[in-house]
Amino acid sequence: MAFEIVESCVNCYACEPLCPNQAIYAASPHFLIAADKCTECVGDFEEAQCVGICPIEAAILDELGRPLNPPGSLTGIPPALLARIDQQGTAAVL
Ligand code: SF4
Ligand code: SF4
Repeated sequence: MAFEIVESCVNCYACEPLCPNQAIYAASPHFLIAADKCTECVGDFEEAQCVGICPIEAAILDELGRPLNPPGSLTGIPPALLARIDQQGTAAVL
């Protein structure tokens, strides 16, 4: 039972001091979570602290590899529109 930080992490340091178990650490090319220390904040907080503070969608995954801040959840931009921007470029969509 542990979360994972992946390559979309921008190394902003916001999550690291909030972890009650000191499970998050700076690494290259991005921050990581020590799986043997992460408790998903169970017993300490109702919400996973790293997930609550992270400003980047899909930077933190659950134990099944699912993004905890999924696309669109922080920006409000519908994933379908993001996909169109990726395919066509911003100018073509707007
Ligand atoms: S879910 Fe909680 S325990 Fe796990 S890395 Fe994030 S802040 Fe630390
Ligand atoms: S808050 Fe998110 S983007 Fe910032 S260091 Fe942690 S995982 Fe990376």
